Amino acid sequence: MELWQEMLRQSVDSGKDLVEKFGFDGELADRLNKLFHIRINPYYLSLIRYPGDPIWLQCIPDAQELEEDGFPEDPLAEDSHSPVPSIVHRYPDRVLFLTTSQCSMYCRFCTRKRKVGDSTKINMKYIQDGIDYITAHPEIRDVILSGGDPLMLTDYMLERVVSGLRAVPHVEIIRLGTKMPCVLPQRVTPKLCNMLKKYHPIYVNTHFNHPWECTPEAKKATDMLADAGIPVGNQAVLMKGVNDNAEVMLELMRKLLFMRVRPYYLYQADITKGANHFRTPVSVGLDIMDKLRGHTSGLAIPYFVIDAPGGGGKIPLLPQYVLGRNGNQIILRNYKYDIHTYPDVEEEPKAAKTQSVEKKYTRKKARTKKKYVPDKEQV
Ligand SMILES: *Cc1c(COP(=O)(O)O)cnc(C)c1O
Ligand code: SF4
Repeated sequence: MELWQEMLRQSVDSGKDLVEKFGFDGELADRLNKLFHIRINPYYLSLIRYPGDPIWLQCIPDAQELEEDGFPEDPLAEDSHSPVPSIVHRYPDRVLFLTTSQCSMYCRFCTRKRKVGDSTKINMKYIQDGIDYITAHPEIRDVILSGGDPLMLTDYMLERVVSGLRAVPHVEIIRLGTKMPCVLPQRVTPKLCNMLKKYHPIYVNTHFNHPWECTPEAKKATDMLADAGIPVGNQAVLMKGVNDNAEVMLELMRKLLFMRVRPYYLYQADITKGANHFRTPVSVGLDIMDKLRGHTSGLAIPYFVIDAPGGGGKIPLLPQYVLGRNGNQIILRNYKYDIHTYPDVEEEPKAAKTQSVEKKYTRKKARTKKKYVPDKEQV
């Protein structure tokens, strides 16, 4: 057994553990564990500094999870975009591929609580269906392995999935969405990296939410991935009491860059049933973005996005930088709130522009048609 597997076995993972280690009431602990599994491996547990701190809030359950908030279990309508159980196909050219229901730590704010940890809903038996679906859809050029956490698979199983995808000619890039560099960095081993780099281009998106997670162990993991030629991005979730503060976020983004992890998304917390206590007003996120842009490296600035309820996809939000327009002068403000004007280029008259686009479109259609017709005659 590898070290990371041994560590997983030592996790806090039952209502009984909560009672014994954290003084929970027995009945409450059982209800919480039944609603959404508890699993905190010893590495992540060691990051807690005091009860209720930003690490604690992410992993130790809270009675508020049981509140009737009226929010949906599937806020992003993933299930209705799911042609086979292992695939979520929302965007034209890329899919999520759910490979395992397991995670090395169950995040209390997880948006996929309804499925994650439940092997009847996400299971390896659906992997072949997923590969078949991707093979049958040549428009899919980007596959994002998700779950659960795909790095919960053994290297052997993961290689079967990744090599299966590489055998599909139209799959250009493979991404792994994994929280392991943050929650169990010991999972990133030389053996794993040597395996993954045979199947480039591979990208990893990981999930750090607080600067205390940026430990020497985590840096070792992200260094190994980067050394294997794998670009690593970060998708953070904005959460009350965890990171809803510009200084904390700035420190997180700078530490990530230092670890060669490029901040990618900052998510507004989803309206997931049982996770309402983590939500912040959208203005908090905008204010944080305002205090990042210009104040630190542009490389450290993620996109702040709302994953639209009902499945509209990710929608980026920016603080207001355009203050108005005066003729062809655009009035802007910079990060210090100094006002600047930019003389815009006169737009082409609307009618002419539309016409030229239309012409191009018809020409293209005509060309396709011409190509198609002779084929048909041959048949
Ligand atoms: C987030 C997401 C993706 C990937 O989106 P990118 O903006 O390309 O990173 C793909 N499919 C689904 C269903 C998603 O939620
Ligand atoms: S690692 Fe991801 S999928 Fe697993 S519980 Fe956390 S947020 Fe959910």
